[in-house]
Amino acid sequence: MGETSYLILGGGPGGLTMARMLKDRGAREITVLEASHKVGGKCLTSPIGDHVVEFGTCYAIWSHKYILKQMKKLGIERKKLKAQRIDNRELMDYIREGSGPPFIAQVIKYSRLRGQLMARAEKGDSSTNHVFAQSTQDWLRANNLGKIERMMHRVVTSIGYGYLNRLPLIHAFRWVDTDMLITGLTKFTVMPDGGWQYFWDRFAEGLDIRLEQAATKIERDETGVCVTTADGTENRADILISTIPIEAFCALTEPTAAEQYVAESVTWSGYTTSLMSVDAWPHSAPVNAWSDTCATDENDGKLLFHRFECEDEDGRYLFTVGQLSTAYETDELAEIAVFDAEQRGAEDPRVIQQAVWQYMPTYSPDRIRTGLLQTMANMQGERRTFHTGSTFSHEAVSTISAFNARLLKAVRP
Ligand SMILES: Cc1cc2nc3c(=O)[nH]c(=O)nc-3n(C[C@H](O)[C@H](O)[C@H](O)COP(=O)(O)OP(=O)(O)OC[C@H]3O[C@@H](n4cnc5c(N)ncnc54)[C@H](O)[C@@H]3O)c2cc1C
Repeated sequence: MGETSYLILGGGPGGLTMARMLKDRGAREITVLEASHKVGGKCLTSPIGDHVVEFGTCYAIWSHKYILKQMKKLGIERKKLKAQRIDNRELMDYIREGSGPPFIAQVIKYSRLRGQLMARAEKGDSSTNHVFAQSTQDWLRANNLGKIERMMHRVVTSIGYGYLNRLPLIHAFRWVDTDMLITGLTKFTVMPDGGWQYFWDRFAEGLDIRLEQAATKIERDETGVCVTTADGTENRADILISTIPIEAFCALTEPTAAEQYVAESVTWSGYTTSLMSVDAWPHSAPVNAWSDTCATDENDGKLLFHRFECEDEDGRYLFTVGQLSTAYETDELAEIAVFDAEQRGAEDPRVIQQAVWQYMPTYSPDRIRTGLLQTMANMQGERRTFHTGSTFSHEAVSTISAFNARLLKAVRP
């Protein structure tokens, strides 16, 4: 039998980690097609003097085990993020004011309930669908987990994953697992020294990556797959692994019924990160989030957090800020950011750079109820195609690489 060949669509975290895992498992013919001029996907590292500003992928936590291991292998140091706060207070003080039993008792209860439900889901049990479709807030309140709810204002909403009253529980469960709870308790948050772009460039060394090769047509039959790129190149392989948004994938091919169904079940949100320059902005920790934007959707578009970056050459100070941005145009977001920064104590704030992201693919609760999760699991391998990336796991490098490690068993048994 000949060597199985693999084509991977997308050179972001989903594509790169899958390529590396396949290579480590002995595959030799692996080609990654990437539309843009660089690898790393939603990573945008911008150097300012000796400092790097991350507009996209930013932190690794305890859940990023695979990535932390790779950093070590590549000899890339980790920079530890010091204190993070909410409303300029310790996160634990904010959490303790939530309703219900002591925090540690809530952690134990949450872990137990989550573990049971996720184990049933793993086995394809559809009787849990109605629970996963519930809003995170409804489920937490029904279970008297008010302190976990407050923790999620910081670890879910403030980093752009959505408001708890709208976010289906499955998404919160995928992100807030035992490793995340350990992160919260140990305050383990790091960044790769030199920035994420440096990490991805090093990680990609030795892989066959074709940059500026946007797929424009995908054909699949019993003999193999063929992906045509914008310059007319035809790339053939036995197996296709897609990491691009599923609706974009469907537009390039004749989709299967399942692919079409998933594409129609997912809504992307908007998340905007901006670099602000200010004369002054008093702060008690490098990163601070605000509960009046994270605990309710009433202040949609206002600042979720600010992160101090560095001083610029004019002696002004640079901060990164984040906004959930689905409902606004770019210039409106800049206006809101300036107004809100002033309200929060910034002197003469100016937006100097903005990055608007297609972010956090969120499932329709109705579709979760009627079997979306089972469809997404069962469609893998159909028409020689496997799907991964944020839509199939969660919008984080850690969950994507963990998902790939599981998927690998089916991709290369
Ligand atoms: C502001 C921000 C902050 C974040 N912070 C963190 C963080 O702190 N920690 C963390 O773990 N994660 C973080 N993330 C999330 C993380 O960056 C994403 O979840 C991850 O990049 C998604 O990986 P992916 O491979 O699924 O998709 P992407 O990163 O979107 O990569 C997909 C790739 O496919 C390419 N592509 C698209 N269409 C085609 C085509 N037709 N042909 C060929 N190639 C194509 C794209 O150019 C892209 O490179 C953050 C993201 C943002 C935006």
